[in-house]
Amino acid sequence: MRSDGTFIAVEVDDAAAADAELARRLAEACPVDIFAQRDDGTLEIVAASLDECVLCRLCLDAAPDGAVKVIKLYDGGAVL
Ligand code: SF4
Repeated sequence: MRSDGTFIAVEVDDAAAADAELARRLAEACPVDIFAQRDDGTLEIVAASLDECVLCRLCLDAAPDGAVKVIKLYDGGAVL
């Protein structure tokens, strides 16, 4: 799944997005609430919060390698 803001996009591997434990960890990790957990346990990317990203990398640390990508649209699509 992927969601695009104006400056930031977030892409999460589909298998990872369906993992309730990972969704919980991401929702807990992100200081600006870009991740939420739906009632069914799956991950939601909160589009309205995307451009609040502070590039802290906590979501990358909380997820298996490559499962989450933070994409800097303002920097030609560079990946954090
Ligand atoms: S880098 Fe930080 S602020 Fe940005 S989405 Fe990940 S946890 Fe949230």
